[in-house]
Amino acid sequence: MMILKTYRSKLIAYSALLMVFLCAILLYSYLYSRSVIINEADVHVTRTGQLLESQLQYERNELLRYAGIVSDDLRVQEYLFIVYRVGAEKEPLRKLYEKLYGWLPVDSAVILGAKGELLIGGEADLARWVQQQGNSILERVYYRQTGDSLEVVAVVPISYRGDKLGVVAMSHRLNKTWLNDKGRNSGGQVFIVRDGKVLASSLDDQAGDLFQITDQRTLMNGDIYRVFPIALPTLDENLPQLWFGVSETKLVSNLNQYTRVSLLVLLFGSGAMLWMGYMIFRNFSRPLVDLMVMIERITQGDMPVVKKSHAQNEIELLANKFADMVHALRSKQVEIDGIHKQLEESAISDSLTGLYNRRHLQEIFPKLRAQSLRDWRVLSVILCDLDYFKQINDQYGHLAGDQCLIQFSKLLKQQSRSNDFLYRVGGEEFLVLSISSEPADAVAMAEKVRAATKDARIVYKGCTILLTVSCGVSFSSPDDSEETALPRLLSRADQALYHAKEHGRNQVQVYGEGDVFGQRRDRQG
Ligand code: GH3
Ligand code: MG
Ligand code: MG
Repeated sequence: MMILKTYRSKLIAYSALLMVFLCAILLYSYLYSRSVIINEADVHVTRTGQLLESQLQYERNELLRYAGIVSDDLRVQEYLFIVYRVGAEKEPLRKLYEKLYGWLPVDSAVILGAKGELLIGGEADLARWVQQQGNSILERVYYRQTGDSLEVVAVVPISYRGDKLGVVAMSHRLNKTWLNDKGRNSGGQVFIVRDGKVLASSLDDQAGDLFQITDQRTLMNGDIYRVFPIALPTLDENLPQLWFGVSETKLVSNLNQYTRVSLLVLLFGSGAMLWMGYMIFRNFSRPLVDLMVMIERITQGDMPVVKKSHAQNEIELLANKFADMVHALRSKQVEIDGIHKQLEESAISDSLTGLYNRRHLQEIFPKLRAQSLRDWRVLSVILCDLDYFKQINDQYGHLAGDQCLIQFSKLLKQQSRSNDFLYRVGGEEFLVLSISSEPADAVAMAEKVRAATKDARIVYKGCTILLTVSCGVSFSSPDDSEETALPRLLSRADQALYHAKEHGRNQVQVYGEGDVFGQRRDRQG
């Protein structure tokens, strides 16, 4: 049952079970109906066979009654007496018979004299047969074979005042017409069989076919017939027998047709079930799996773009809500990323001027040093300190002082190159970290900054404030170790700046230039 974890597998398994169950029901109902039909056919064959027997008995009695009427008729007896004993012509007797009994519903009728001579009737064959029976003939019904059919013959003696004058014989043929008639009315087939072969039947073209009984059945022309022997009393053993039969194949073929229709219905039902399964999979399982995949991506830190659909059902609504949630999460993520970036920037930058702070210097320095060493270039520091800044604060106020700091930072940006790093490292102290081809490049830039500062006019609340700056320049030495390189570089710049202050401010001092320090004054200052 471990495999049946998902709804999809459950659905497939249950559908398959249901289909097997339906197939089993169909098979069972087929076999059961087949046995019921066959049992019913047994009963039907026996009952109809018995009914045919009683019909035949009725027909025999009727035939005997007709013959009895003729033999009991006094006029017939008297005429027969006159013809037979007195020797009169038999024509009046024939006419009398025709007039009185010509209408009787029999196939043939003959009257024979006591010596067997034919007095009335054209059936020489029947007359011969009656003659052959001789004196043993009694008032009864006989069966005889006539060609392919059976013939029922009723024979009744005619007497006049105790004098036995002759016999009257009437016959009725169980021919093809009779067989067809009985077959049609009984819902089966009637066969005349002799020596295991069909002589005649209500079926077309079956004469000559084998008629062999096994378990009350016979096979004929591919059809199995369930058969019943119709008892004919007084039937000679050498004469043909009469059988009634019902085609089992025909009965079962109706059932087969029903089963085929049921099978079609089952197939159609299975198709409908498969379609339903697919629809459930499409509408439930797949959207849920898609949602799961998306949740997994979000769990792994990915934030996929989820498209919304025209919501119609609950799952689509859920997916749309989920898309809204992902959208909201994404916006929050962007906000958080922005704040994170801001925090990162504020951690490394100065809020008043927007320049980097000391923390950034610590971070970037090793990389720049490695780069300068690799490229055989000079890594330099210009340390700038505004001159007499305390006085500006005192004179114009702290806000004016702030404005001066902002303006100086802008000036620094204008005078530096894009790949220089600019820092505010103290109250009115700034630093430029740069890589250049020559030491002179850094010195030149410091000079440009100093000159530009001196020329700058900062206007605050109607007052024009003048500024000067002192700069100390130092260069990184390949001899310095990785740990000491930055403190030493800063310390040297600081010493250079100290000297710039010492020597009257508004100037650039380079560490290690001249005797102790190179000195650059503002020539116009
Ligand atoms: P020196 O030429 O020797 O550098 O003189 P100085 O007055 O510039 O130096 P000092 O160190 O005595 O004074 C620095 C002043 O800078 C003190 C302080 O009031 C001012 N200062 C420091 N930070 C800020 C700031 O953020 N804003 C303003 N407006 N002033 C500041
Ligand atoms: Mg200072
Ligand atoms: Mg100062």
